[in-house]
Amino acid sequence: MSELPERPEERECSTYLVTGNCNLGKNCKYHHPKNITPIEPGLALNDNGLPLRPNQAVCPDFSRFGLCKSGPTCKFDHST
Ligand SMILES: [Zn+2]
Ligand SMILES: [Zn+2]
Repeated sequence: MSELPERPEERECSTYLVTGNCNLGKNCKYHHPKNITPIEPGLALNDNGLPLRPNQAVCPDFSRFGLCKSGPTCKFDHST
Protein backbone atom coordinates (compact mmCIF):
# COMPACT_ATOMS: atom_id res chain seq x y z
CA MET A 1 0.00 0.00 0.00
CA SER A 2 2.27 2.74 -1.22
CA GLU A 3 1.86 5.52 -3.72
CA LEU A 4 -1.51 6.84 -2.68
CA PRO A 5 -1.96 10.36 -4.04
CA GLU A 6 -1.69 13.37 -1.76
CA ARG A 7 -4.14 16.06 -2.81
CA PRO A 8 -4.29 18.60 0.01
CA GLU A 9 -6.84 20.66 -1.90
CA GLU A 10 -9.32 17.77 -1.89
CA ARG A 11 -11.20 16.26 1.01
CA GLU A 12 -9.63 13.33 2.77
CA CYS A 13 -10.42 9.88 1.41
CA SER A 14 -12.90 8.30 3.84
CA THR A 15 -11.87 4.77 2.92
CA TYR A 16 -8.25 5.57 3.62
CA LEU A 17 -8.98 7.25 6.94
CA VAL A 18 -10.76 4.13 8.16
CA THR A 19 -8.67 1.30 6.75
CA GLY A 20 -5.33 2.93 6.03
CA ASN A 21 -5.66 1.76 2.47
CA CYS A 22 -7.54 2.73 -0.68
CA ASN A 23 -8.52 0.28 -3.37
CA LEU A 24 -8.54 3.01 -6.00
CA GLY A 25 -4.85 3.64 -5.52
CA LYS A 26 -3.42 6.29 -7.79
CA ASN A 27 -6.82 6.79 -9.43
CA CYS A 28 -8.46 8.04 -6.26
CA LYS A 29 -9.30 11.72 -6.48
CA TYR A 30 -9.18 12.36 -2.74
CA HIS A 31 -6.43 13.30 -0.33
CA HIS A 32 -4.41 10.59 1.44
CA PRO A 33 -2.33 12.28 4.14
CA LYS A 34 0.69 10.38 5.32
CA ASN A 35 1.11 9.19 8.89
CA ILE A 36 -2.51 8.80 9.82
CA THR A 37 -3.72 6.23 12.32
CA PRO A 38 -6.49 4.24 10.63
CA ILE A 39 -9.67 3.80 12.64
CA GLU A 40 -10.06 0.13 11.69
CA PRO A 41 -7.00 -1.16 9.87
CA GLY A 42 -7.73 -4.13 7.66
CA LEU A 43 -11.49 -3.58 7.59
CA ALA A 44 -12.97 -5.12 4.44
CA LEU A 45 -15.11 -2.84 2.27
CA ASN A 46 -17.52 -3.66 -0.53
CA ASP A 47 -17.41 -2.09 -3.99
CA ASN A 48 -19.18 0.98 -2.68
CA GLY A 49 -16.71 1.51 0.14
CA LEU A 50 -19.10 0.23 2.79
CA PRO A 51 -17.83 -2.11 5.50
CA LEU A 52 -18.31 -5.86 5.44
CA ARG A 53 -19.06 -7.03 8.98
CA PRO A 54 -20.37 -10.59 8.67
CA ASN A 55 -20.88 -10.84 12.43
CA GLN A 56 -23.14 -7.80 12.59
CA ALA A 57 -26.73 -7.18 11.53
CA VAL A 58 -27.35 -5.99 7.98
CA CYS A 59 -27.44 -2.21 7.73
CA PRO A 60 -31.10 -1.11 7.56
CA ASP A 61 -30.39 1.68 5.07
CA PHE A 62 -28.33 -0.60 2.90
CA SER A 63 -30.92 -3.37 2.86
CA ARG A 64 -33.74 -0.98 1.98
CA PHE A 65 -32.06 1.50 -0.34
CA GLY A 66 -28.82 -0.17 -1.36
CA LEU A 67 -26.82 2.71 0.03
CA CYS A 68 -25.68 4.00 3.37
CA LYS A 69 -25.04 7.53 4.53
CA SER A 70 -22.67 6.45 7.23
CA GLY A 71 -19.99 5.25 4.84
CA PRO A 72 -17.01 3.23 6.02
CA THR A 73 -17.63 3.98 9.68
CA CYS A 74 -21.09 2.34 9.71
CA LYS A 75 -21.30 -0.36 12.37
CA PHE A 76 -23.55 -2.67 10.34
CA ASP A 77 -22.87 -5.26 7.67
CA HIS A 78 -23.04 -4.33 3.98
CA SER A 79 -22.35 -7.59 2.22
CA THR A 80 -24.20 -7.99 -1.06
ZN1 LIG B 1 -8.70 7.05 -1.71
ZN1 LIG C 1 -24.65 1.25 6.86
